[in-house]
Amino acid sequence: MTAATFPLEITQTKRSGLQEVDFNNLGFGRIMSDHMFVADYDNGQWQNSRIVPYGDLSLSPATAALHYGQAIFEGMKAYRTQEGDTLLFRALDNWNRLNKSAERMCMPTIPEEIFMGGLTELIRLDSDWIPSAEGCALYIRPFMFATDPFIGVKPSDTFSFIIFTGPVAAYFAKPPRVKIETHFIRSAEGGVGGAKCAGNYAGSLYPAKLAQQEGYDQLIWTDAREHAYIEESGAMNVMFVMDGKLVTPFVSDTTLDGITRKTIVAIAHHWGIPVEERKISVDEIIKAIKEGQLESAFGSGTAAVVSHIEAIGFKGVDYELPAVKKDSFAQKVKDYLGDIYTGKAEDIFGWTLKI
Ligand SMILES: *Cc1c(COP(=O)(O)O)cnc(C)c1O
Repeated sequence: MTAATFPLEITQTKRSGLQEVDFNNLGFGRIMSDHMFVADYDNGQWQNSRIVPYGDLSLSPATAALHYGQAIFEGMKAYRTQEGDTLLFRALDNWNRLNKSAERMCMPTIPEEIFMGGLTELIRLDSDWIPSAEGCALYIRPFMFATDPFIGVKPSDTFSFIIFTGPVAAYFAKPPRVKIETHFIRSAEGGVGGAKCAGNYAGSLYPAKLAQQEGYDQLIWTDAREHAYIEESGAMNVMFVMDGKLVTPFVSDTTLDGITRKTIVAIAHHWGIPVEERKISVDEIIKAIKEGQLESAFGSGTAAVVSHIEAIGFKGVDYELPAVKKDSFAQKVKDYLGDIYTGKAEDIFGWTLKI
């Protein structure tokens, strides 16, 4: 994919903010690049595809998304290679998933040419914003929301699709301590846990805040029915290494089908490491920790990549996990993923797209 194959108007910024960025102190999610891609859905079709300077939106106070939450998003990353090229990772999977979320939330799907065309043009225009330091990337946030200025409850007829980007460093400053949540839930069967929709995050903030007050960084959600089985960690899927196997909860309509997750599963298969995608009970994990059988636990996600979990809290007891060894699967897959993202390792899987 080289150029947009649809009408795309580009208005460049008159004043780039690039000089003001301290690339040694990026943090996560605070800094936005110069431009954004915008398309409008009206009269049953996507139109007015354009790239404009990043800036505020003007919205009616009755904007449907603000009241009833018809809003979905994606998160992806672009990396700089040593040769100075730009690599996108599995972008078509993000496009696919956005459209799945759209269907669940009664929103229109986005044609591939608009998603990929808008994305590649935007990243090309702001390619100077891609950081090259280790662990850093250009984070990309595509999202769609309902724009009808109408406060009756119904699916909106109009929508905005926007992509903006920003340079980021690691998501976690240190390995997270996580709490297994046994009261609140993130999603239930038949709900919207499998969609990357805004409301899933809104509902998770309060339980996460309580956990933070107890000294944890993240939650691990359990199933809504029994609180007996591990689901995921809110912005990350969770994986365990035990018994020489990679074990991770299977994806259902209560968990998000993470692209990093399926990437790691594919790498494990490729390396000949047995993988079990199945129900995992909390008891099984606690027992494995107590018996010294749990080699590691980590979260996987675009933002967090592979994040080793330092400790797991369950019913008031903190279980410290062993330090991550250099030759462990968790460390090796983290390093290998980093090398694929940045073009240091040959992409034998065909996951990256040079733009
Ligand atoms: C985005 C997200 C993930 C991670 O998915 P990736 O495709 O790997 O980035 C996991 N869980 C939830 C709830 C998410 O929103």
